[in-house]
Amino acid sequence: MAAPDTDPTSDVVETDSVDTELEDTNLGDPELFDKVVNLSKRRGVVYPSAEIYGGFRSTYDYGPVGVLLLRNVKDAWWKSMVQRRHDVVGLDASILSPPAIWEASGHLANFTDPLVDCRSCGSRHRLDKLEEPDVCPTCGAKGEFTEPRHFNLMFKTHAGPVEGDGAVAYLRPETAQGMFINFANVLNSSRKKPPFGIAQIGKSFRNEITPGNFVFRTREFEQMEMEFFVPPAEAEEWYKYWCDTRFQWYLDHGMPEDWIRLRPHEEDELSHYSTATADVEYMFPWGWDELEGIANRGDYDLTQHAKHSGEKLEYFDQAANERYVPHVIEPAAGATRTAFAFLLAAYDEEEVRGETRVVLRLHPSLAPYKIAVLPLSKKAELQGPAKELLAKLQPHWMCDYDETQAIGRRYRRQDELGTPYAVTFDFDSLEDNAVTVRDRDTMEQERIGIDSLVAYFREKLDPIA
Ligand code: ATP
Repeated sequence: MAAPDTDPTSDVVETDSVDTELEDTNLGDPELFDKVVNLSKRRGVVYPSAEIYGGFRSTYDYGPVGVLLLRNVKDAWWKSMVQRRHDVVGLDASILSPPAIWEASGHLANFTDPLVDCRSCGSRHRLDKLEEPDVCPTCGAKGEFTEPRHFNLMFKTHAGPVEGDGAVAYLRPETAQGMFINFANVLNSSRKKPPFGIAQIGKSFRNEITPGNFVFRTREFEQMEMEFFVPPAEAEEWYKYWCDTRFQWYLDHGMPEDWIRLRPHEEDELSHYSTATADVEYMFPWGWDELEGIANRGDYDLTQHAKHSGEKLEYFDQAANERYVPHVIEPAAGATRTAFAFLLAAYDEEEVRGETRVVLRLHPSLAPYKIAVLPLSKKAELQGPAKELLAKLQPHWMCDYDETQAIGRRYRRQDELGTPYAVTFDFDSLEDNAVTVRDRDTMEQERIGIDSLVAYFREKLDPIA
């Protein structure tokens, strides 16, 4: 195999002290959650869905800023998982799917959560997520839960005009099965051979019993999943490689090291087919919780689909004259949940000249806008050339343009959006053909000639984009 020469990552990667540079940031701030939710609404990141009709529980719409953040998270994943590799290809499979897929995958029988109701206050909970299994977290009553009922999380619907059993369809609860059912298609059409992967980003749907914590757990969400097919003897090594690689991805995109960890599952947490699973967890305001699971799934998925479909899902290694069912290593991440974690991690407040400055210290590759173009005044003599400047930058980067209010307030607004650079076109610009570039994090300003501006930002933004 093209050996991944990385260290095994079998232990929890965790440090118990927050380094001094992060001391004044938001780890453990009980108000952080509300601050980020408020900022999201105020600045167009995420809105509660169907708000004008009173809302629709646990559904959200991504606004002008949020759609960019989410897209950047997905792009960063795609670049690292597909674009920058020779051994992973992409896929975009159908969301609507026939029961046969879910019969084979085991979801129809087993994709359930244990649901309990509190007889005392009527609240409903997921038994496996309770801190104490017989104490109601809503009212504190002990021993008042009903017997657990197993509740299937899949959304069922009907395809076509007749609602019969033959027309039953499911909205996929994960993107992964799309990769398994297309294994032979990809193998035969892409000239790939194990070890190779198939990656997909897309919406998934789960009828969650307890959605909540803003976009952390919703019924409709986006996933970023990759199935990596390997010769069985190489599975363990590739599992370690993907644990390491995926953990590093979060760090490379600005996640502070102390706020994420890789937690291997205990024996009793593992699904029956998995020999090893580890979760990338983030320190959310309510504690450590999952962003991504990396699992060694053995040959379970391909074997199941081969059995149920009657198709051969294996690989014939001509050189070794050997036929085998590849094993699968699966890094499965949530795009919407990860974007939320990056948002929480980026939120910062600091005192500047007696005022609180709110700034999203997003990694530039994730920042919704990379550059804001701000004419010092709305006067036509500045507006025209400022818009020309905007048009010069737009082919390269996502830019914002804002000409209302005092320049200081506009800087603050961009800080709240996490825009790494603001470019101010002032009256001097008309004379010296230069603009002031302000850095979001240091607030330092630099005068740069307009003719060299694209080259200047290329140097600053492109190596990390
Ligand atoms: P949980 O234990 O939180 O229900 P899971 O272990 O069932 O999650 P997976 O099936 O491994 O989740 O899905 C992979 C990723 O998809 C998760 O790590 C998470 O980031 C994301 N995800 C799963 N369910 C949801 C949801 N309801 N809302 C938002 N993201 C989700």
